Amino acid sequence: MTRPYVLLSAAVSLDGYLDDTGPERLLLSGPADFDRVDEVRASVDAILIGAGTIRADNPRLLVNSPERRAARVAAGKPEYPLKVTVSASGGLDPDARFWHTGGEKVVYTTDAGAERLSRTGIAADVVPLGPALGWRPLLEHLHDVRGVRRLMVEGGGTVHTQLLQQQLADELQLVLAPLFVGDSKAPRLFGPGTYQGGRLRLVETRAIEDVVLMRYEPTAPGTGQETSPADRHWLRLACELAVRCPPSSTAFSVGAVVVDADGTELARGYSREAGDPVVHAEEAALAKIDPADPRLAGATVYSSLEPCARRSSRPRPCARLILDAGVRRVVTAWREPDTFVEGADGAGLLVDQGAEVVVLPEFEARAKEPNRHLLG
Ligand SMILES: [Zn+2]
Repeated sequence: MTRPYVLLSAAVSLDGYLDDTGPERLLLSGPADFDRVDEVRASVDAILIGAGTIRADNPRLLVNSPERRAARVAAGKPEYPLKVTVSASGGLDPDARFWHTGGEKVVYTTDAGAERLSRTGIAADVVPLGPALGWRPLLEHLHDVRGVRRLMVEGGGTVHTQLLQQQLADELQLVLAPLFVGDSKAPRLFGPGTYQGGRLRLVETRAIEDVVLMRYEPTAPGTGQETSPADRHWLRLACELAVRCPPSSTAFSVGAVVVDADGTELARGYSREAGDPVVHAEEAALAKIDPADPRLAGATVYSSLEPCARRSSRPRPCARLILDAGVRRVVTAWREPDTFVEGADGAGLLVDQGAEVVVLPEFEARAKEPNRHLLG
C-alpha cells in the first residue's frame, strides 16, 4: 500500500450541518469529545484540512495534552503531527494560526499556486503537484516522501466528500450533536455526487456526554487495478476464513468472499467446508449464489490464495468457475506455489479471459499461516 490510512473526522448537527453561518465557529461537541479528538490527533502522523477551513475557522490543529505530546516524543515521533493543507490557487493567509503553531507544515498546491505562495513567504514546505491537484498523488507523496502512515482529515465538507467519493477514506469518525442548525446556507458534511452504493459498515458507537460517536468503514470494492480500502477489509476476511478450514496434508486452506460492487457481501466460503473433503473456497462461495444473479458481473471475488487453474477432483477449476459466473475482478493475497500443481497459473487464465487480478502482497504472510505445514 502506498497511501496512508485515511481517517475522516467530523461533527454534525442533527440536520447534517458542520457549522452555522455566524462569524464564530459553532461548537458541536463538548469537552469530553474535544479530548477524544485530541487523543486521535496524538495518534496520527499528520492532520489535513482544506484551505477553506483555514479561512473559515482559523484553527491551530494542535495536540493540547502535554502528556500526549510527551508520549509522542518518548516514542521517537515529533511532538506534534505534521499539519497538511491543500490549495489549488495558493491563496492562503500567511498570518493564519495554522502556520504559527505546532510542528512542521506542508501545503499541496498546483504549479501556479506554488508560484503565488513563494511570494507570500508562508512558513511551510510547499509541494506543487503539477498543473492540477489530485488526491492520489497527494496521498502517495505524504506516504512515500513524508513517511505518513496514518492521516487524520478534519474537513471541511468538500475535502471529506472528495475523499469518500474517490474511495480513498479508510474510516469515518462521525460525531452527531443533539442540536439543529436549520439554515440551508450553512456548510454540509457531504455534498452531492457519486458515492459507493450499498451500506457502510458500522464498527463502533460510543456516547460521549450528549453526543454520539459513530465509526464507519466503506465497503465497496475498488475498480480494476485501482484498490479501495474495503478491498483490504474483504481480503482480510478471506484470510480469516482460511483459518477455519479442516486441516489437510494434500490441499491448501483457503478462504473466499464474493462482494457486490456496492459493497454487499453475496457469499463466503472456505476449503473443505460443510463436510465436503474436496470443495475449494471459491467454489463453495459461488455455489451459494444464484448463477442468474445479475450482481455477479460487477462483483469481486476475494480469495486468500490465487484461484486454481487445474484440479483433479472436479471438472472445472476455480478460475473457470469464476469466469463462468461472470465475475471479472479477483483480489488475492498470494500466487499459488508448485506444491500440488506444476506451474499453477490461475491468475494467467483469469487475465487471458479478460478478468482483473489484483494481488495484495501485504496479506501474503496471513494467507500462508494456515498452510505452513505444506510449505516446508
Ligand atoms: Zn480451486
